[in-house]
Amino acid sequence: MKNRHLDTLLAESGRHPETQHGIVNPPVWHVSTVTYPTLAALEAAGKTPYEGVVYGRFGTPTTWALEEAVAELEGGYRSVSLPSGLGAIATALLAFAKAGDHILMSDSVYFPTRKLGQGLLTGYGIETSFYDPMIGAGIAEHIRPNTRIVFVEAPGSLTFEVQDIPVLAEIAHRHGAVVMMDNTWSAGLFYRPFAHGVDISIQAATKYIAGHSDAMLGLATAANRDLWEPLKKTAAELGLCAGPDDCYLALRGLRTLAVRLARHQETGLALARWLAERPEVERVIHPALPGCPGHDIWKRDFTGASGLFAFVLKPVPKPAVAALLDGLAHFGLGYSWGGYESLIVPSDPQHSRSVTRFDGWGPALRIAAGLEHPADLIADLDAGLERLRQASTG
Ligand SMILES: *Cc1c(COP(=O)(O)O)cnc(C)c1O
Repeated sequence: MKNRHLDTLLAESGRHPETQHGIVNPPVWHVSTVTYPTLAALEAAGKTPYEGVVYGRFGTPTTWALEEAVAELEGGYRSVSLPSGLGAIATALLAFAKAGDHILMSDSVYFPTRKLGQGLLTGYGIETSFYDPMIGAGIAEHIRPNTRIVFVEAPGSLTFEVQDIPVLAEIAHRHGAVVMMDNTWSAGLFYRPFAHGVDISIQAATKYIAGHSDAMLGLATAANRDLWEPLKKTAAELGLCAGPDDCYLALRGLRTLAVRLARHQETGLALARWLAERPEVERVIHPALPGCPGHDIWKRDFTGASGLFAFVLKPVPKPAVAALLDGLAHFGLGYSWGGYESLIVPSDPQHSRSVTRFDGWGPALRIAAGLEHPADLIADLDAGLERLRQASTG
């Protein structure tokens, strides 16, 4: 059934009830040792460690169920599950860059991805440089003979620039570079990475896929077998394997991804539109609203928006921002996102970029719209902005 809708795919993928007494969900296999009936069987398994149950670290039917479902969702060949989203990014970078290679990263990447490029990787002789996320065809001028990876993230972390990935990928491929995408914002649901030229797509499944703020998990999905093998080999050599309970939670979250994302989208847009009308707000940055860099690309390439966006306040003293945040009843003040509960967090976009300037004067805040009723969230923000006003006028 190749042409089924994504909602149907989410209900069906990675499931093989016929292999397990007809039971709907896979068991949570807790595995280290696997025993073999004969010496010949033991030796045969050792020859293909990544196929079949060989040793706990190399995968189990629980991890495969999740990997199969995410690979189908993303439209790729096969996935590798890893113990966090950052673990998936690190594994992918280490799988393809060697000493002497160069990596090009968007200036709006997730901050820990930037730190990996500027820190650990430099110690292994891999150089990372950054480019303007909106550079488009101009990327050609930044490609060097040793550029091995072009890393994209759309929309960007904190600042939400939507990159023109088909253009970037076409140029990267012409120069023999691998295109990696952090596709966490779309949850794999609203963006088809492989249809837009991506080679390796990464999901921090910690976010929307697990969806309940109770698991740390990453998946790296490859476009084809030649790209999947180095990923799997690197994960295995580094000894990285995702925990079975986390894989089960992510698989459970995946089943409701489409219904949750529809609500995250609706509420996120309601909050963003409401904030855009407020006199205290300098600007709202939401990929689905005009004014977000790359909004036209979002319209062309994405099929929806998740619930994560940012807004910039007009300049106010810090105690006014604290007054807004400290009294919120329905928003948690904290990092990460993608769970059922709404979050708000201050951000410092200028601090996490090096070749572009963030266009905003006042304090920036990021909202993850949860599954609460939007009217309650708006009332909460309304009261918060009233506190901010009181605190800024003294
Ligand atoms: C959170 C996040 C990650 C890292 O995921 P973890 O599971 O927390 O390691 C990577 N990319 C983006 C865009 C994220 O927001």
